Amino acid sequence: MTEDTKNKLEYIRSYEGHARLMEVCGSHTAAIAKSGLKSILPKGIELLSGPGCPVCVTPTAYIDKLISLGEEGFTIAAFGDLFRVPGSKESLRQAQTRGISVKLVYSPMKAAELALSDPKNKYVFAAIGFETTAPVYALLAEQIIDEKIDNLKLLTSLKTMPRAIEKICKENGDITGFFAPGHVAAVTGSEAFSSLAKKYGVPFCVAGFSTEHLINALYTLLKNQGKGICLNEYREVVSETGNERAKAIIHKYFKTGNAPWRGLGKIDGSGLYLKEEYSHIDAGSRGLESDKPNVNCKCPDVLTGKARPADCPLFGKVCTPLSPVGACMVSEEGSCNSCYMNE
Ligand code: SF4
Repeated sequence: MTEDTKNKLEYIRSYEGHARLMEVCGSHTAAIAKSGLKSILPKGIELLSGPGCPVCVTPTAYIDKLISLGEEGFTIAAFGDLFRVPGSKESLRQAQTRGISVKLVYSPMKAAELALSDPKNKYVFAAIGFETTAPVYALLAEQIIDEKIDNLKLLTSLKTMPRAIEKICKENGDITGFFAPGHVAAVTGSEAFSSLAKKYGVPFCVAGFSTEHLINALYTLLKNQGKGICLNEYREVVSETGNERAKAIIHKYFKTGNAPWRGLGKIDGSGLYLKEEYSHIDAGSRGLESDKPNVNCKCPDVLTGKARPADCPLFGKVCTPLSPVGACMVSEEGSCNSCYMNE
């Protein structure tokens, strides 16, 4: 740790004011948990986890739709952390035990390989995520079209961050700063968060993922409490305007639309959908309804910083990582999972 970082850590530890700071990136949630940073914070600093885990905000209706495609004879190709996400009746893993074909893939391109090697069967790839993964899904769409892979479609649940953060700013005015998501900002640029900072009068700091990055960002947020500015402490990766090539391929294949977020409801303009001209490779991503979570699950309040995981009556009793009731418990990037495993 450099002298500069040590000094910043000392400033943080002796901070006497009050600050409620939210990270809106699942990787930050996991990185903060692993760093042990929470355990050395003074009482006045509270760190909250927002809706940045893509698995957590994937709506129930999306899981149900994947399973219904499986029932129609599609093989579902999905990343592993999606397997245990509860649908309205069952998860992909449970559906698999009754014969629905679900295959684990580690990259979108693996789904293309599967489909190409098995032309008699039809495949659907579960494309969930944020701006970070959208360019890779766009490349998969390009491959499907260019190579005429007619037995592979995408079911997308793609979200964009700024509108969700704006909803939190509107609904929860006592958050005093945001760790802006480093991976998302690498694509969008730090400028994507500047107007939110100005509009709501709170600081945003684009942060990386090492303990040193987190300390720098936390220090920056504390030093700038009450100011509506966006600062960048991840300049080695994030520029002001982002990755132009990544943005270009996103805009080539996707267009903005309203999206249902598990726990947050429908947020206008917060989704990305394949453009109409590519509808032949879309397995039915549009028009999915917002979720109806378990009535006792406090995910909606947890995701907006109004409640902590331990405030949920199911936390650690009925809802655990091995048996998640709400999506915040499924992935290690989810608020409830992180709290259960690390606090
Ligand atoms: Fe939802 Fe489980 Fe978290 Fe409760 S502990 S808010 S049920 S995910």
